[in-house]
Amino acid sequence: MTALPWPDRGDRTARPGPADQPGFSPRRPAPPRHLADLDPAARRAAVAELGQPPFRADQLSRHYFGRLTGDPAQMTDLPAAGRAELAEALLPGLLTAQREQQADQGTTVKTLWRAADGAYLESVLMRYPGRVTMCVSSQAGCGMACPFCATGQAGLTRNLSTAEIVEQVVAGARALAAGRVAGGPGRVSNVVFMGMGEPLANYNRVIAAVRRLTDPVPAGLGMSQRQITVSTVGLVPAIRKLAAEDLSVTLAVSLHAPDDDLRDELVPVNQRWKVAEVLGAAWDYAAATGRRVSIEYALIRDVNDQAWRAEALGELLAGRLAHVNLIPLNPTPGSKWTASRPADQDTFVARLAEAGVPVTVRDTRGREIDGACGQLAARADAKAAGVQAASAQAGPGGRAR
Ligand code: SAH
Repeated sequence: MTALPWPDRGDRTARPGPADQPGFSPRRPAPPRHLADLDPAARRAAVAELGQPPFRADQLSRHYFGRLTGDPAQMTDLPAAGRAELAEALLPGLLTAQREQQADQGTTVKTLWRAADGAYLESVLMRYPGRVTMCVSSQAGCGMACPFCATGQAGLTRNLSTAEIVEQVVAGARALAAGRVAGGPGRVSNVVFMGMGEPLANYNRVIAAVRRLTDPVPAGLGMSQRQITVSTVGLVPAIRKLAAEDLSVTLAVSLHAPDDDLRDELVPVNQRWKVAEVLGAAWDYAAATGRRVSIEYALIRDVNDQAWRAEALGELLAGRLAHVNLIPLNPTPGSKWTASRPADQDTFVARLAEAGVPVTVRDTRGREIDGACGQLAARADAKAAGVQAASAQAGPGGRAR
């Protein structure tokens, strides 16, 4: 059993802080304000404050969300005088690509980003036949301390702003639109909050980001709510709050064990909210939204992959609006744990299927570039490791790689 890492290590994000900035350490300046942080009314107010007509906010929003550009030179419908000022005030550069790594013949792309304050975060683009999924970070680091996850080992640096989350998706959308991803021009169809961080510990900004991603242009990117998945360790009050948002996003719960004894160790926040409470909140989410809940279960050899645990899991889930996504454990530095034997994985799948529980095994996309689940660590030495994209900016200019 690990020492109780929660709420002590996680409380900066789990508990609402002062004013509108929970989770931001007072020593760290908040990221610059960006159009994507604001709803349309607030954007108009911000433009008016600059002494420009409020409808310019819609024009700027169309450029950013519709045409995916932040480059004032391309905003020819805005008067040349004042254009740069608007872009500077509302479309500041937030993330600089530090390194880009590709796998799967260029259809998986992991980007290491550096924020204005020097925080590092990662996003992963995954192209499949017929869809493109962006896996985004919601925090720099993570305070949840799950022992099998690389991000959890380094602790939390800070929450990301709404715009920093949205920018990861916009950067992917730009790369796809420009045909810079193998497979030709395309669009981002799905977003999963499965990168670094615990999204429900950065609740307000994540919800605002979901709205920016799904509101129609010019308010947002116009994606479908159903194509967005929010993955959580199981912060019960936040799951209940999410159920009341009137959003139809998919909820994914990182369960990893059907019993509290083991889950206390694998997902330390379980010491606060037990399996039964987490699943109770998940079923209420399913009832409120009509959406099938995804139960994530990383299969760890001889730790949580026994047939009896599959049966116990099957009992918990049978008859529920749920589906199990088994994740073969991805290796992380220094971890003693490894993926299950193929025969044990097969037995696990079979037991769940016998219980009538829909089950799939997730692919291990991006594993060799440490881009797969639980491998995102955003090492700060990345710079030294060969920066190929140092000049690529995902801000004004729209030249994100
Ligand atoms: N904090 C959120 C999002 C994290 S990442 C959450 O916990 O749900 C998405 C999934 O990857 C989670 O289910 C997480 O437990 C899982 N994961 C973490 N480390 C992993 C590893 N080394 N191998 C496989 N899956 C892992």
